[in-house]
Amino acid sequence: MNRILGQSAENASKLVAVQQIFRRRTPERAWSGDPPPGAALSGRTFNKQRSEPMKAFYADQFVLPLPPGHRFPMAKYRLLRDRIAAEIPLVRFSPAPAASDGELALAHAPDYIEGIATGRVDARILREIGFPWSEAMAARARRSVGATIGACRSALLDGEGVAANLAGGTHHAHADRGGGFCVFNDAAVAARLMQVELARPGSGPVRRQALQVAIIDLDVHQGNGTARIFARDPSVFTLSLHGEKNFPFRKEASDLDVPLPDGCDDDTYLHALDLALDELTQRFEPGLVIYLAGADPHEGDRLGRLKLSYDGLEARDRRVFEWAWQRRVPLALTMAGGYGLDIETTLAVQLNTWRVAAAYWRRWQNQPR
Ligand SMILES: [Zn+2]
Repeated sequence: MNRILGQSAENASKLVAVQQIFRRRTPERAWSGDPPPGAALSGRTFNKQRSEPMKAFYADQFVLPLPPGHRFPMAKYRLLRDRIAAEIPLVRFSPAPAASDGELALAHAPDYIEGIATGRVDARILREIGFPWSEAMAARARRSVGATIGACRSALLDGEGVAANLAGGTHHAHADRGGGFCVFNDAAVAARLMQVELARPGSGPVRRQALQVAIIDLDVHQGNGTARIFARDPSVFTLSLHGEKNFPFRKEASDLDVPLPDGCDDDTYLHALDLALDELTQRFEPGLVIYLAGADPHEGDRLGRLKLSYDGLEARDRRVFEWAWQRRVPLALTMAGGYGLDIETTLAVQLNTWRVAAAYWRRWQNQPR
């Protein structure tokens, strides 16, 4: 019998209340190195009775006016939300908050933020992004960042363990320009903002230690913008598995890059991922994972050039969630790319990802506390 259950019921219930308040205010698992991975919860003995659902954030109410035949699957996001609502009822969607100028400025140049806000942005940059400027484009970009911020807050600061953005993963956005359907870099802004929010007086334990964030980018395209933004920032580890011959053709150096050959199959991919996660384990100890679960490594993707199956991609997702779970590191999920020849292909891959996310979210809720 453990110590806590050995006390009177009254004391025990008080202790639970204090633990829950403390847990809300003190995200101790977010502080790298304290306590060691996997040990954070030892000695906790209460199952928290929960009725709250898994949190997810969307911005699909902003539909960009795109020319006919445009490759960006704008319709996918609302379809995916409807599908998740129908099939994974424990997920509750909220509209994403808009990231403020100040939040965006944690990873982006003020001139670029203003250019996107006002439409006075260089035509060359808009061409690289691939969207014409519109009010909806500027609003959606801010909300997409806000959705990842919301997911990080829920997973990390509220102690939910897992939360998600229905979009995001806009990893080609650099500090001063976008590219490849990416306007702002949601993972970069959210990682920096979580570091700031945890460093704020009163938000954490007295012994301060910077939050370390691992960005695990398994979209088929290299996370060049993310790599560049964090190139000289040892507090954020950027890991990218991507098609060697795919866009972007000029890669940036991530902390760990794993280039994969065209036609890469499940076994090759999963072996490479295992090695990459092992290396991440050796080199870094995050207090938060932001996961870009691109659907575009799937064999049915127009742009992916790899040959992963549905099962292979689900195994990929399970490896990432399991890696974070084993270390009790909160994880914020983002969707990144997916350009199936048939939109149903992309939806099926992403729905699987959400099923895995929901299963791991449930583990967080059921664990002894
Ligand atoms: Zn992609």
